[in-house]
Amino acid sequence: MNQPAQIRHALSTKRQDDFAQWYQEVISEAEMAEESGVRGCMVIKPWGYGIWERIQRRMDDRIKAAGVQNCYFPLFIPLSYFAKEADHVEGFAKEMAVVTHHRLIAGENGGLVPDPTAKLEEPLIVRPTSETVIGAAMARWVQSWRDLPLMTNQWANVVRWEMRTRMFLRTSEFLWQEGHTAHADRDDAMEETLRALEMYRDFAETELAMPVVAGEKPENERFPGAVATYSIEAMMQDGKALQAGTSHYLGTGFAQAAGIQYQDKEGAQQYAHTTSWGTSTRMIGGLIMTHGDDDGLRVPPIVAPHQIVVLPMLRDNAEDEALLAYCAELTKSLTGLSAFGEPVRVLLDKRPGKATQKRWAWVKKGVPLVLEIGGRDAANGQVSVLRRDRLWNEAAKANFQALSKDEFVSRAVADLEAVQTALFAEAKDRRDAQIAQVDSFDALAAFFSEDKRYPGWAEVVWSRPTGAELESVVQRLKALKLTIRNTPLGGEPVSGVCVFTGAPAVERIYVARSY
Ligand code: AMP
Repeated sequence: MNQPAQIRHALSTKRQDDFAQWYQEVISEAEMAEESGVRGCMVIKPWGYGIWERIQRRMDDRIKAAGVQNCYFPLFIPLSYFAKEADHVEGFAKEMAVVTHHRLIAGENGGLVPDPTAKLEEPLIVRPTSETVIGAAMARWVQSWRDLPLMTNQWANVVRWEMRTRMFLRTSEFLWQEGHTAHADRDDAMEETLRALEMYRDFAETELAMPVVAGEKPENERFPGAVATYSIEAMMQDGKALQAGTSHYLGTGFAQAAGIQYQDKEGAQQYAHTTSWGTSTRMIGGLIMTHGDDDGLRVPPIVAPHQIVVLPMLRDNAEDEALLAYCAELTKSLTGLSAFGEPVRVLLDKRPGKATQKRWAWVKKGVPLVLEIGGRDAANGQVSVLRRDRLWNEAAKANFQALSKDEFVSRAVADLEAVQTALFAEAKDRRDAQIAQVDSFDALAAFFSEDKRYPGWAEVVWSRPTGAELESVVQRLKALKLTIRNTPLGGEPVSGVCVFTGAPAVERIYVARSY
């Protein structure tokens, strides 16, 4: 393959020109998902779903390794279940889809209408989250302290009637996992809440190569009904924050609403302390906005449906047969390798069509390594390797050089690992460079009003106000289109005064525009 003299990128929109448009273009050009005709609901195509399946599998391994068991609970939840937890129902009321009838009949104008005689006695909610229905099951399953901790997870779709939707990041129906656990006391439940958070942090950074900050959400951003909410926050390439996963300590509120009670060692009745934690298809949106470039998606190898694509440059002539045999043998040797604890996923792309077009299709999908093999490569026992994470930069010159096949096979796993590491390092350097420490509200306002397209995040110290005082901080930030992301866990003790209240500061927080 020859390096083009002038770089022509594979997408028509560049990130710096219109990030939102670029995002949509990556999704369609990489054939990840498309609009479905139902507002806010998307069709996830094989490449997008393949990434989700990789995420699912690796996350599921981690969930099970923690002793959590998968279950499945109903899609429909009786309205009365929600009504038992006041904050919870209030938080979700505005975005619930409700089923009221179970039959249609012919209407006056010829169309079908709900049959008034088939009205449900009690409306059913299409689950926006499953605390209430799982709580009802836990109440049946938990009797004694010996039944605790009870740790369940489900992989499911949920529906939240979102007003402003964007593919993967915020859809009305989305796919997720939701962990729900019940414990004897606060300490045990809090330990589980933080374990799940740490699992998400490590998953985002290891599997998705997406650096995140794990921390506690402020009071105003808590999950409806939660005592404490924790999140992982990632910075997208436009400097905005994305909440990529959450873990909640729910206290005994849900246990009281559902009647999750147990007899303790002394024979007394106690309410369980519960937790819930979730990550969704939003992570795929985060992956696109973290790693995508002006040529499309770049998928970290651990979650890439194909890690290596072997692309024979077929000519429709007699030499094709030998070329295909060579590529098949190469594919076989690569498939026998193991990377990241699993067999390497290799595709031999022998579909008809121009090799260059096929190359760009794989580039846009973000396959970590594309091997282009011409007749001469086959005759000389060589391959040409294209490493997707560095298509055009200085280091990329190696992309366009032929390499002996055996040498490539012996270093393919190391190359995949190198791509995974390089994507993380690039994202982390970019994020760290876009976090600024500011020490007054004016400096904060200036930081976000500067004539910078993508300002990033501000790190400030504050006095952790609550109630009305917090609400006034939230409103001041809202006027600047800003939100508090989280208080990072760990870290040095802080000094100085709160940038909002002037009171002595007790912790640090990140403030940012967000998705
Ligand atoms: P929650 O149950 O509200 O804590 O949500 C759990 C996680 O699901 C969040 O941290 C998000 O990553 C994700 N999520 C929430 N709402 C949506 C949505 N509308 N579309 C996609 N993902 C979502």
